Amino acid sequence: MSKRGKILILVSPSGGGKSTMTKRLLRDFDKIKFSVSATTRPPRKGEEDGVHYHFLTKENFKQKVADGDFLEWEEFYNGTMYGTLRSVVENELNKGYFILLDIDVLGAKNVKELYGDEALALFIKPPSLQVLKERLIARGTESEETLNTRIERAEKELEYASDFDTVIVNDDLETAYNQIKETVSNFINS
Ligand code: ADP
Ligand code: 5GP
Repeated sequence: MSKRGKILILVSPSGGGKSTMTKRLLRDFDKIKFSVSATTRPPRKGEEDGVHYHFLTKENFKQKVADGDFLEWEEFYNGTMYGTLRSVVENELNKGYFILLDIDVLGAKNVKELYGDEALALFIKPPSLQVLKERLIARGTESEETLNTRIERAEKELEYASDFDTVIVNDDLETAYNQIKETVSNFINS
């Protein structure tokens, strides 16, 4: 592959469906690679270093910030840091791959600003906050406290939906995925 690839960004509040759609896109398009972010949060059960995240100490993370290694990075409310590594994205783009980013609303806006038409930012919107809450409860990964924080954060994040290239409502999973697949396919072939 010689032609430079492009960036795909999936954005949504927590529980909106990013991981679900990411898995499907990676299965259906061999030209798409996942951008493994760096984080200072500890790995969850089943998460592998270098596969789901590059798990770094705060010290290491800050050194990388100082070295300019991140395209964007953020410190979340609980002090956890997350960042997109410039080298990961640029290496795959230069090899002709489409690199898929699962990052939050602000990070997505920053990457879109840097890359312009080289990036497609898709906002996945839950049908309602109530449905989002029910899905987060059913996923079983949140305590009552983190659930409430995520819902409060979601309310604010939903206000930014129209800032992105496309908004897809994730009501029926198959319908939403087919819309995403078509949009991504058009972007890849453009
Ligand atoms: P995110 O990665 O954005 O936090 P997930 O992909 O983990 O979100 O989705 C949150 C939960 O909702 C998961 O348990 C997932 O299986 C479920 N889910 C996602 N989309 C739908 C849908 N359209 N209908 C029903 N459940 C869904
Ligand atoms: P989690 O801890 O559940 O894996 O991720 C929490 C949030 O961090 C999610 O909204 C996820 O999209 C976001 N995130 C993951 N990696 C990055 C990154 O590199 N940059 C930014 N800005 N957000 C990220």
